[in-house]
Amino acid sequence: MLRLDALEVSYGPVGAVSGLSLNVAPGEVVALVGANGAGKSSTLKAILGLVKARGLIQLDGEEMAGMPTHLRVASGLALSPEGRHVFPQMSVRENLELGTVKRTVGATKELLDEMMTIFPRLRERISQQAGSMSGGEQQMVAIARALMSRPKVLMLDEPTLGLAPLIVDQIGELVLTLKKRGLSILISEQNAEMALDVADRAYVLETGRIVKSGDSRVIKADPVVRSAYLGFEEETV
Ligand code: ATP
Repeated sequence: MLRLDALEVSYGPVGAVSGLSLNVAPGEVVALVGANGAGKSSTLKAILGLVKARGLIQLDGEEMAGMPTHLRVASGLALSPEGRHVFPQMSVRENLELGTVKRTVGATKELLDEMMTIFPRLRERISQQAGSMSGGEQQMVAIARALMSRPKVLMLDEPTLGLAPLIVDQIGELVLTLKKRGLSILISEQNAEMALDVADRAYVLETGRIVKSGDSRVIKADPVVRSAYLGFEEETV
């Protein structure tokens, strides 16, 4: 569904992503794991065309490189950005409406109804200012807003950042619910525990390069990953 090959992102002389190749199959959840500054956000932004990149970016066989961001969204890519970036003065409904691509009244209402089914908590808060909600609720708004464009591939950048463990679990459950609905998901996380629990496969990124990839259970059991990204001390013999 999504294929990256030899992706390169630089900010002037600073290389952020080097020769990155990954793919996400239809209906698959894939985790991109790495420390602060490893290049996860740059990868997701490059996929959407928010930063300049070189290399192949294919969505469902269609080449995205060179296409403006709004057309990539119309083709089926959506991002819930790191830090959520909801519009704080706007209501939940208005935030969600901004995510639509086809802005007809009927299509928007249908999508809003669907979001209220997936996120029942947002139903009772639909008229509330997004900025007055908790971090977890704002994260739900950011994910729902991304879903309003009916993406083929949903990208989640650090969705658990700063959230309590109970909310992290809820986001994990949400990812599995979306997977059951057939969505392909690419989830970037520094705190990798939840991402590795819900993902089918994972890629580990270090200073812009993939250093490990494979079945997420195998990646989760890897001693280096456990020590670097899951907070376990490496056993010394
Ligand atoms: P984080 O979780 O902190 O966002 P990340 O893995 O998403 O980390 P990136 O934000 O993609 O990493 O950053 C990768 C590298 O690119 C880092 O060295 C970072 O300092 C650099 N970088 C990111 N954005 C810019 C920018 N706008 N200008 C210059 N350098 C940047």
